[in-house]
Amino acid sequence: MILKRLEISGFKSFAQKTELNFNFPITAIVGPNGSGKSNIAESFRFVLGEQSFKSMRGKRGEDMIFSGSPKARRANFAEISLVFDNSDRRFSGVDFDEVRISRVVHRDGENSYRINGSRARLKDVIELLSAVHIGASAHHIISQGETDRILNAKPLERRGMIEEALGLKIYQHKRKDSEKKLLKTEENLREVRSLRRELAPRIEFLKDQVGKVEKARFIQGDLTDLYKEFLKREFVYISSNRKRLETEKEEPERRLNEVNEEIERLREEVARDETAEYKNSRVFELERSQRGLDERRGDVLREIGRIEGEIHYHQNRIKYLEDSAKTDPSVAWSNVSSFLEEVDNDINKIEGEHSIEEVKRIMGSVRVRIRDFLGSFSGDSAEIRSEKERIENDLYLLEDEKKGKRQVIEDLKKEADKLMEERRYLQEEIAKDRSVSRQAERRMFECMNEQQSIRSGLEKIRRDISDLDKIDAVFKYEIQEAARIVGSFVLDYRDHEINTENQDVLSDEEIAAENREEQENRRKEIERLKIRLEELSVGSHKEIMDEYEEVSERDEFLAEEVSDLERSIESLRKVIADLEETIENRFQEGLARINDVFQDFFVEMFGGGNASLRKIRVKTSHSSFEEGGDDGDEETQDSFEGLEIAVSLPHKNVKGLLMLSGGERALVSVALIFAMSQVNPPPFLILDETDAALDEANSRKYSSLVEKLAQQSQLILITHNRETMAGAGMLYGVTMDSGGISKILSVRLGPEEVGATDQ
Ligand code: ATP
Repeated sequence: MILKRLEISGFKSFAQKTELNFNFPITAIVGPNGSGKSNIAESFRFVLGEQSFKSMRGKRGEDMIFSGSPKARRANFAEISLVFDNSDRRFSGVDFDEVRISRVVHRDGENSYRINGSRARLKDVIELLSAVHIGASAHHIISQGETDRILNAKPLERRGMIEEALGLKIYQHKRKDSEKKLLKTEENLREVRSLRRELAPRIEFLKDQVGKVEKARFIQGDLTDLYKEFLKREFVYISSNRKRLETEKEEPERRLNEVNEEIERLREEVARDETAEYKNSRVFELERSQRGLDERRGDVLREIGRIEGEIHYHQNRIKYLEDSAKTDPSVAWSNVSSFLEEVDNDINKIEGEHSIEEVKRIMGSVRVRIRDFLGSFSGDSAEIRSEKERIENDLYLLEDEKKGKRQVIEDLKKEADKLMEERRYLQEEIAKDRSVSRQAERRMFECMNEQQSIRSGLEKIRRDISDLDKIDAVFKYEIQEAARIVGSFVLDYRDHEINTENQDVLSDEEIAAENREEQENRRKEIERLKIRLEELSVGSHKEIMDEYEEVSERDEFLAEEVSDLERSIESLRKVIADLEETIENRFQEGLARINDVFQDFFVEMFGGGNASLRKIRVKTSHSSFEEGGDDGDEETQDSFEGLEIAVSLPHKNVKGLLMLSGGERALVSVALIFAMSQVNPPPFLILDETDAALDEANSRKYSSLVEKLAQQSQLILITHNRETMAGAGMLYGVTMDSGGISKILSVRLGPEEVGATDQ
């Protein structure tokens, strides 16, 4: 016997903790209507994990809890424990002699399970119980009025009941699970395929792009090599030419500095002419002074002449006087001719003189001469003497004056000599300066010529440098362009080696010596490759490659997913087919056995006749079942195989359930239910007033069938029927007190002991 004990607390009318032991094959529960007997059957359902509160006559968990009465407080929770015997370890995996399953429901809806005191999930409970062929709503708890259910059921429902009784539900669940899985998997497959379909154009596009990227990379490779050579050559060309030009520039620049300096110096030399001007004016001044001196000398000389004339006159006077003294009144011819000669001289002088003053002066002296000549004809000696003295005195004075004048002449001459000397010196200087300046000018002219030629030479170099600067500017731009197009690694172009065909490395000189045309050709080739790259322009290579890789990976992943899903579908279909086969085989076999026992029990109940479950084709419409025609019906998509009950009563021409009496219906259903139990006996069976409609004679037959069932399953019978009670080893009386609380009274029936204990 598997059932040991039921403990109820707070469940429906069982407000207080109540314990029912099941130590006999048959236990009967008796009591007046409404005392709480059915609540006990429901407590079984509850603890076994029933999820339908409706099947326990409630709407929600709270309805399972004692709701209180005017005399008793309501309970906060309901707890049921069912204890199974496990001494034979029929519950696999549980190494205890007892298995205790508990379920608690609280008013707030919290619901929990325990297996041997440990918290468990409903799933664990169901698994544990299904292993010993016990389920919550299974056929082993036949509720009140349920006997009729199998008769009233539609063919498909009935088939379901039979399948459940045959223990096929587990396979059907499995099949349903597999079908659900299949549907889900097929859905997944469709989704994955559609994802692949969606992906396909993108992959195609990316493949095309990747092709372009690869081609572009190839060109880029060529372009990189070309760029490196081009940039290297350009760099060498520019730097060596710059070096050359800088060197070429050095000498002319140095020379130009020299020339410039020389020109500067020469310019100073030429500028010396300024002193020449001073010198010239000084010379002019000296000349003027000289002329002044000459004039003064002339004046002084004339003075001297006058003085000499006077002296001469005085001397002649003296001579005359002396001659007169010799009283010779005659005048010697010599005197007259010398007198005439002197006068003639003076006249000559006058004729050659321009100065009026001088003419006047000479005329004065002529007059004196004439007077003196005439005077020399008179003869007074005293007078002559004094005259002679006076004249001599005058002569003395005149000689002195003449001497003074001579000195002046002397001084003037000295002064004039000094001036002359200075003038000569200056004129020499001027002449010398003039010659130096002329030389400087000549040299300056030469220098300027040289300066001009150096400048134009330098100008050419500068033009070359400026041209080189332009090339350099373009080169700098090209470096940036190259880095932008083929990547920054091209910037190490300086380390790039250029080889000859013999793999010798070209020197910088050799590189620079190359014809520029070759470099131009390279530039054109670069431009050509750039254009080709441009044409292949597909956006960021990395992004495309990354995306292609990502998308291809995703596609591969999806492709694998597709084959996985296809495999899953295949295996699920196989599982379903296997399950269907198993279900079908077991169903056929089980149905045959149920029919055998059904027939036997039917005959036993009715004393003859026939009863069987027959397969019937039914069609479904709008999810409701309709009974269909015969077996021969064509199978359609909506056509299923149900079961109908075929009976024929002995001695009566009654076929079909509708024509049976209430009692007859009860007998048929009992026979069928019992047959179902017999074929796949559950460990225990609860029958809630299954015998309610039977008369005494049939009650006896029922009782004998119950005994047969008890050989296979432990029975708990809720009954009002004495015949039924008589077969029980233990009798529990249920009463309800005035507080609406159910109580249990146990009575052990049997030959050796009959007693009653209050619980
Ligand atoms: P019958 O012989 O007529 O079938 P029974 O002995 O099977 O009657 P039950 O149907 O088991 O009686 O018990 C019904 C009783 O249980 C009713 O009196 C009902 O009020 C009481 N009951 C049901 N649910 C609760 C609840 N949550 N709290 C208190 N009492 C409850």
